Amino acid sequence: MSVIDSALVQIKQLHPYSPGKPIEELERELGISNAIKLASNENPLGCSPKARSVLEQASEHIELYPDANAYYLKQRLGEKLGVDENQITIGNGSNDVLDLIARSFLDASAEAVMSQYAFMVYGMVTQACGASAKIAPACARDSESPYGHDLEAMAGLISDKTRVIFIANPNNPTGTWLRADALEAFIENVPDHIAVVVDEAYFEYVDLDQYPDTMQWLERFPNLIVTRTFSKIFGLAGLRVGYSVSSPELCDLFNRVRQPFNGNSLGLAAARAALDDDVFVEQSRLSNASGLQSMQQWFDARGIEYIPSAGNFLTVCFGDSSMQIYQQLLERGIIVRPVGNYGMADFLRISVGTEPQLQQLYQVLRELL
Ligand SMILES: *Cc1c(COP(=O)(O)O)cnc(C)c1O
Repeated sequence: MSVIDSALVQIKQLHPYSPGKPIEELERELGISNAIKLASNENPLGCSPKARSVLEQASEHIELYPDANAYYLKQRLGEKLGVDENQITIGNGSNDVLDLIARSFLDASAEAVMSQYAFMVYGMVTQACGASAKIAPACARDSESPYGHDLEAMAGLISDKTRVIFIANPNNPTGTWLRADALEAFIENVPDHIAVVVDEAYFEYVDLDQYPDTMQWLERFPNLIVTRTFSKIFGLAGLRVGYSVSSPELCDLFNRVRQPFNGNSLGLAAARAALDDDVFVEQSRLSNASGLQSMQQWFDARGIEYIPSAGNFLTVCFGDSSMQIYQQLLERGIIVRPVGNYGMADFLRISVGTEPQLQQLYQVLRELL
């Protein structure tokens, strides 16, 4: 017997999350200095200038523990979202909040329901708790929402053991999204004792009439938990700040599980400042909308299939050549994201870059295709 034998089976069976390749790593390997990364849905415009401007002052006292209650960030978030501070749980990225939720509800006797092609982390946090993931087949390729969450199929998987349902809206890596009427009807029919997690990591990018305003539903659905992040449109992925909004009672539970200092001082200050940077957020939204449109037109013109996206990325079908194209793009200094680990080996997920980055991408793809 070794100490590894004593480790929990569900932990030994976990597959580590495979992140996008870091730019520095590729540049080191190729001996180049102008690589671009379109692999992790980061903001290509950088971070909010308002956030950057508070970092120096926030770093003055990093010998002190951060504010464990994230007072100022929660206060401003509460104002912005129209909710009470006691409904907000701060995480070290929203992935941390997903983990808090799983640990609050899931054990070996429990099940969590999620969709095929849903964000990888739901399955990971479920398995880490020893619970079973029940995976509903996604909508068909030729349906209204190709590869999207099939809410009916998800409802069909609810059992006596279900404790959590994970929904990504929009989802990563598919970019698919759910309309307000459909999602609302779904949640209405979920038994009250099951937690419904709606992950809105790309919320600020979405500009669609039928997209839900879930903050309005929190009072009616005490089992609803909405998660959001500062990693995407606010450009603070490196500082790790995300949050959930829920009933105060659920928030109280998560705060018992939460590590007291999971939000660091720089992240909390930068997130607080970024919230007021409407100019940067609007710029990012517009730049993304035009980049996404440009990408869709480029692939349309070549008859290359992609999944229509509401996020800041496009998942494109390259068929059998997808890994070859991934490698060839890498050799030319462009990092995109294979999604074979999602069971989508024919696809590559490409984050929306700036206009010059997209031109560089098109130029290389023109040579390759
Ligand atoms: C990027 C992403 C997140 C955010 O992760 P952080 O931990 O906040 O950086 C959460 N959910 C989905 C679906 C994502 O794509």
